[in-house]
Amino acid sequence: MVNGDHEHDGFEIPLDYVDPAGRAVDHRLLGDFVAAAVAGCRSCRDALLTFVAEDSPTTARLVELACISTRERLGGLPATMTEEHAGGPVGLEFRRLAGAGVDGANSAMFDACARMDSAQRRAAADTAAGILITQLRMGLSH
Ligand SMILES: [Zn+2]
Repeated sequence: MVNGDHEHDGFEIPLDYVDPAGRAVDHRLLGDFVAAAVAGCRSCRDALLTFVAEDSPTTARLVELACISTRERLGGLPATMTEEHAGGPVGLEFRRLAGAGVDGANSAMFDACARMDSAQRRAAADTAAGILITQLRMGLSH
């Protein structure tokens, strides 16, 4: 894909995915965003993050992917990723969404994301990308 004057290798997000409420996830945007984040390209990551944050189902899906990746690695989600008052380095907005989606409550998580403003979604998506990228780089998730 082309981002202005340079490119990143594509990153494939599984497409066989149905949003619990039937809302469309922008898989291309999500793939481009994750590719930029994996490539460590701050300018593309920031630019694409703005679009992700405007798109609530895509933000929710990104948070979900970070949760799935964490679950695969740790066998569950630690409290520091799901509880508002747990403290720690994980952003509050991400914790709110991950907490809403815990126990497979996908719809609740997507609904909570839809109620956030774009600044909150931006924070949640940025945290989710950081978690996902860390795990992708460790080679323990895909
Ligand atoms: Zn770039």
